[in-house]
Amino acid sequence: MNKEEMEDHLNHIKAQYALYEERPFEITIARGIPSTNQLKLSEALINETKIENWYSDDELDIRNYGGLFGIEEARKLFGTLLNTTIEETFVGGNSSLQLMYATLNHLMYTASNPWSKEETVKFICPSPGYDRHWFMLEHLGIEMIPVELTGKGPDMETVEKLVSQDPSIKGMFIVPTYNNPTGETVSDEVVDRLAQMHSASEDFVILWDNAYVVHHLSELKEEAKDILEACKSAGNPERVIQYVSTSKMTLPGSGVAAIGASTKRMNELALDFSKQLISFDKINQKRHVLFLKDRETIDDLMSKHAEILAPKFEWVDAILSAYFHGERSSFVKWTKPNGGYFVHLTTQDGCAAEIVQRMKDIGIELTPANAAYPYGINARDNSIRLAPSFAKLDDLEIAMEALCVCIEMVTLEKILI
Ligand code: PLP
Repeated sequence: MNKEEMEDHLNHIKAQYALYEERPFEITIARGIPSTNQLKLSEALINETKIENWYSDDELDIRNYGGLFGIEEARKLFGTLLNTTIEETFVGGNSSLQLMYATLNHLMYTASNPWSKEETVKFICPSPGYDRHWFMLEHLGIEMIPVELTGKGPDMETVEKLVSQDPSIKGMFIVPTYNNPTGETVSDEVVDRLAQMHSASEDFVILWDNAYVVHHLSELKEEAKDILEACKSAGNPERVIQYVSTSKMTLPGSGVAAIGASTKRMNELALDFSKQLISFDKINQKRHVLFLKDRETIDDLMSKHAEILAPKFEWVDAILSAYFHGERSSFVKWTKPNGGYFVHLTTQDGCAAEIVQRMKDIGIELTPANAAYPYGINARDNSIRLAPSFAKLDDLEIAMEALCVCIEMVTLEKILI
């Protein structure tokens, strides 16, 4: 298109947008939460799971206090997700984020060598990443260093250089499987390099948030290599602390979360937890074991989630593909994940915030632009996260069509300045 044609086309798109403005929508694709149909898959967890034996395999009365590490059968079940032994598995309450925050808080303030004694504490933040990780670090006063993701995990050359030179870099977050929001899974090579790299800080730690470990969208099942095993082989068994939860397997409002780490790490963390509470909700742990049973049953349940989720991801891809091809293909790039909850859009530089604002103005809520970067700062202003899981298919279709209009409008306006 020449300049005149572009201007004509822009006017045509603006007319379409004006129609949206006249009748704003009320749709959100902002947060990665399961839809009501997905929640229904686990109603039996509450309504049909009868507890007949109030004792755990390690003979704890689950109605009473005690059992800080979680009941044995739950530790065993979560071990199948974390590749850990019972001793290396700690089962907590309903939120893995809370366990991550508690870990950071412990390392900052109550560990034998607390980080807070040092002037500066820094973390590597593979970006685009999960905004709630960044909120946690910011809240605790930990300085964030963004490192680009490559499609197979963080850019390891940069990570190795930073971590080996700067003792104030104390750790990093990673979402190893179907990263939020890029959907990528770390390669075996990245796992090995993370496990083996030299760190200037003696107590460097990797918070391995495997929130999407079994959350495949198709038969193309991606799996990150066993990081704890790799760390042990590299002589750094304390380096990694892994997290999972059933939030997106059963019910986020009433799930169960777990930690997997070396027994030394685990005992240190448990000692810290013991100052906070006597024990987590063992009845919910038992209920989850009765409902989820074993890895096979978990995988079956996850394929039912995929049946509901996959069409939404297909819609997102189909609508973007239909709109942005040929001349317009440079306006936006997007991910086609094999699992997880998100699609990540890379717009032209300087367009993302404006696109999200235009969507907001017509009643469609997206995650704030660039929120996947530490402090929400992305100099290129080109990052948008889509969370298609919650919306109904017809709402998603409307939202995606409006999004295509907004992307084209903002990009053309930018080109024509
Ligand atoms: N970690 C990641 C990467 C997530 O995307 C989410 C939710 O979106 C969570 C953790 C939340 O986990 P939980 O519900 O166990 O606190």
